[in-house]
Amino acid sequence: MQNPKQQFTEHLAWTSDNPIGLEVDQAVGSYIYLKDGRRIIDLISGIAVSSLGHRHPRVIEAIKRQVDKHLHVMVYGEFVQGSQARYAAALAKALPDGLDSVYFTMTGTEANEGALKLAKKATGRTRMMSFENSYHGDSHGSLSVTGRQVYREPFLPLLPDVGFLPFNDIEALAAIDESVACVITEPIQGEGGIIVPSVAWHQALRKRCSEVGALLIYDEIQTGFGRTGSMFACEQFGVVPDIITLAKAMGGGMPLGAFVSSHAIMATLRDNPPLSHVTTFGGHPVSCAAALATLEVLTNEQLPARALQIEAQIRETLVHPSIREIRGRGAMLGLDLRDANLTEKVTKFCLENGVLLGWTLHSNSLIRVAPPLNIEEDVLNMALRVILMALKQHA
Ligand code: PLP
Repeated sequence: MQNPKQQFTEHLAWTSDNPIGLEVDQAVGSYIYLKDGRRIIDLISGIAVSSLGHRHPRVIEAIKRQVDKHLHVMVYGEFVQGSQARYAAALAKALPDGLDSVYFTMTGTEANEGALKLAKKATGRTRMMSFENSYHGDSHGSLSVTGRQVYREPFLPLLPDVGFLPFNDIEALAAIDESVACVITEPIQGEGGIIVPSVAWHQALRKRCSEVGALLIYDEIQTGFGRTGSMFACEQFGVVPDIITLAKAMGGGMPLGAFVSSHAIMATLRDNPPLSHVTTFGGHPVSCAAALATLEVLTNEQLPARALQIEAQIRETLVHPSIREIRGRGAMLGLDLRDANLTEKVTKFCLENGVLLGWTLHSNSLIRVAPPLNIEEDVLNMALRVILMALKQHA
């Protein structure tokens, strides 16, 4: 009989030639416990998912309660399922006014797929615009609006009629015209290297889209649910998009995503033909129960504000000549190292010494830090000391 490591090697499809391959036993709070007895501080939260830490008791309790009632009963949108309805109402309340009709999905890329289809249906236009270096997911539609050629190239041809503009460039927005159905952007680019654009750019983008009747889609799959210091990042830029897409931290560790818009825009998906966008598992009742508990904890414990304290603690502590810049906002930060060769050495040293750091898909000089929003101050401090030690050893 093979052990799990051998089974992983032989039977699980790999996404790279050298997966980290840590063998997980348990995960609780800010820690992941490994089969070999080691305990690791999680500074990446499953890539911005475990914002309440692992297995938050309120989330676990909500999951157990729902499991005792029902699991899947019907494809999305047909039955009234309490946990789904309660969460949709709470989410609409937490979102800016006008974003009040929720379409649930399972994942982020599906949320973006739905948003792109919705924009085409609502406007009757086909052209879609996005930004260089953006990341919106790996299914065909989301990849079509992802602004990195190296990831698109092997899968061409993708969707036609897609244009890319430079990010954070106000003048370039003039290319958005009356032929455009939608413009999709992350409020802060994540995988592209943690890039925060200016408030002026965000507002110019909103204005341009309104002028030409293009729908503005904010992909808050990574920035949402308090990670950048407000419940949704769009609040910090004074912009309300026409459609917002969500996933990752939404389900408190359970798979859940959504695209959310106004009733008027969302209603265009209902007919001509009816059922023109359906999903079997979108808004799974157990995920929705977990998501409602997650939203309540985020709100009651004021975790968006806690993200800003985490940012301050990291910026104060991580001062080292090898760090060129700390980019990002709240608990979504990137340490830009002066020497790209250091990235691997530092992350390896940290892992050997009990700290899990992240990487971005598109940059090799960036170390990503995205801890749980409720990480204890002393635990974070311990982890930051290890990063400093790594820099001292290898710089
Ligand atoms: N959009 C953004 C901004 C993301 O960061 C990601 C994932 O990292 C996605 C979309 C895709 O989400 P998923 O992996 O759930 O499909």
